[in-house]
Amino acid sequence: MLSEFDLIQNYFVKQLITDSRIAMGIGDDCALLQPTPGMQLAISSDMLVSGRHFFADADPHMLGHKCLAVNLSDLAAMGAQPLAFTLALSLPEANPKWLSGFSRGMFQLAQQHGCYLIGGDTTKGPLNICITIFGEIPPGQALRRDAAQVGDDIWISGDLGDARLALAGYWNDIKLEQADHQQAALRMHMPTPRNALGVALRGIAHAALDISDGLAGDLGHILERSDVGAIMEIDLLPAGLILQRQSRELRRQFTLTGGDDYELCFTAPEEKRDAVMAAGAHTSTPVSRVGKIVEGKGLTVLDQHMQPLQMDIQTFDHFKTP
Ligand code: ADP
Ligand code: MG
Repeated sequence: MLSEFDLIQNYFVKQLITDSRIAMGIGDDCALLQPTPGMQLAISSDMLVSGRHFFADADPHMLGHKCLAVNLSDLAAMGAQPLAFTLALSLPEANPKWLSGFSRGMFQLAQQHGCYLIGGDTTKGPLNICITIFGEIPPGQALRRDAAQVGDDIWISGDLGDARLALAGYWNDIKLEQADHQQAALRMHMPTPRNALGVALRGIAHAALDISDGLAGDLGHILERSDVGAIMEIDLLPAGLILQRQSRELRRQFTLTGGDDYELCFTAPEEKRDAVMAAGAHTSTPVSRVGKIVEGKGLTVLDQHMQPLQMDIQTFDHFKTP
């Protein structure tokens, strides 16, 4: 039986840290950070709960990836550069196979982003994974939700809806070919946080957030905080590769209200169109222009005839959804 100390040592003390901003990592009562002089720290936590955010038997490698990915995505949405993270883990048992898969998935992604595990807590209990992540950003350059301006274009990175399609496949709401379901499920279990794009959009984008609960609802947060409205053409929304082959109805529904996309939705003034395209090209991230920020309140979605579409715009809410 693994002791708590061995568990941490074997599975979580994995990175050789040579970054001078991390004065002390795992091992003492606290980690010590020395941020680059003049930079602000951007801090965010995301908790993933078994049975709520993932299936209890989820593949541990993909789960390790996803837990860190959703946290990195919050830094991306702010335009912050990843620096470090802590991991608070509640585990039903010390299962070496699970732990090694989980830690490999997590560290692979951490390595790609130069982000270091600097501490955490480990306890026995229902499977529950909480990461707190730290990033750096020059003061005044964060991409905030309250910064959208009338006349801004609305942009989306990558494409939307394949993760939601995969979920519909698991629920048997939709019949998918097995290969299609597998490919869509990868988008659900292994999201790609858009950190390089987020950093490249500093000084270009006004407002930004990452889409976790569905575009319509998440964009709503920008509109509310910025006190503006938006108009969007629904058929301009970029659909995931698998979703593209589904009916128009489903494409519309899942691009607009799906969830688990972890793409960025951001606004930028018209004169920055070329700069946004260049930021996308430099970071190898597709970007699509899908609408405009207008005066007023709320989101108006237009159909192919430029008529307002009557759609039930639902967003995910843990306390409203059973
Ligand atoms: P304390 O009892 O002082 O909180 P712990 O025994 O819980 O310390 O942890 C010892 C060290 O291991 C600390 O530096 C802590 O940050 C780190 N640690 C504990 N759990 C984890 C984990 N899941 N991932 C990374 N570091 C961890
Ligand atoms: Mg502790």
